[in-house]
Amino acid sequence: MQHKKIAFIGAGNMAFAIISGLVKSGYPASEIIACNKSNQVRRQELATMGINVELSNRQAVEQADVVILAVKPQMMAEVCAEFADVDFSSKWVLSVAAGISVGRLEQLLPSANNIVRSMPNTPSLIGEGLSGLFAKKSVDPTACQFAETLLSAVGQCYWVETEAQLNQIIAITGSSPAYFFRFMEAMQQSAVQMGFSENDARFLVQSVAVGAAKMVVANPNLSLATLRENVTSKGGTTAQALAVFEQHQLADTVNQAMNAAIKRAEEME
Ligand code: NAD
Repeated sequence: MQHKKIAFIGAGNMAFAIISGLVKSGYPASEIIACNKSNQVRRQELATMGINVELSNRQAVEQADVVILAVKPQMMAEVCAEFADVDFSSKWVLSVAAGISVGRLEQLLPSANNIVRSMPNTPSLIGEGLSGLFAKKSVDPTACQFAETLLSAVGQCYWVETEAQLNQIIAITGSSPAYFFRFMEAMQQSAVQMGFSENDARFLVQSVAVGAAKMVVANPNLSLATLRENVTSKGGTTAQALAVFEQHQLADTVNQAMNAAIKRAEEME
């Protein structure tokens, strides 16, 4: 990757995860600027890594070829106002903020014409993320490539064709770690009711979740249905358990839940 000067506006959890991944993958820390106004400990941590720590968002932006917008969505307008008059025509912008459309970013930064919007998920914080990415057709393909390389530092990337699909990505990969946590939580509660300690129940549930996920990844030629059927002997224990899920229309419940997430994402834009 060509070493462009990258400024992170907001150096909280998501930015820190990306910065750490970049540095680990060999990107020179001296080419990274991070702005974090509120967290002295984080600033020291970044400085120790060799990152240039800035207090002025504007100065960081002025020095950068690539600007990563990584503040909370509700802060975005106020923060962008600090550098809205900087000439962005030769800079690339990558936003990781949930719910802020490209159109809104174009209003906030009128001279920016190469904006990539992304929707990373929480497992990105441990390098196991999935980031949905969207850019208008007019965006420089090299900017898109660079955005993908940046987010690959925290996991996998998936480009969508339309911005509306980013809201679907939120339902499929953004909110969904919580669906799995909820399912595991229910299993843990059930194991506790049987008499296992909370810790033991968690150990058992997390072990099977990791094992099942790894089986999916290790068997790309087997459909999820086949993997399920392979554990399900006719008349056996698994068949009994799955029949209860079917009686309660698990697939329909999941579908309704995902559509509710999409609807909420659309309302928030
Ligand atoms: P965070 O609260 O950890 O980080 C936000 C950072 O912004 C903080 O370090 C804060 O000091 C800084 N900040 C606040 N006001 C500022 C200002 N005026 N100028 C400069 N910096 C300022 O939040 P996060 O979880 O890292 O989220 C950041 C963005 O990433 C959000 O827009 C969020 O939607 C997006 N995101 C996060 C996740 C996740 O898993 N954490 C997932 C998807 C998207």
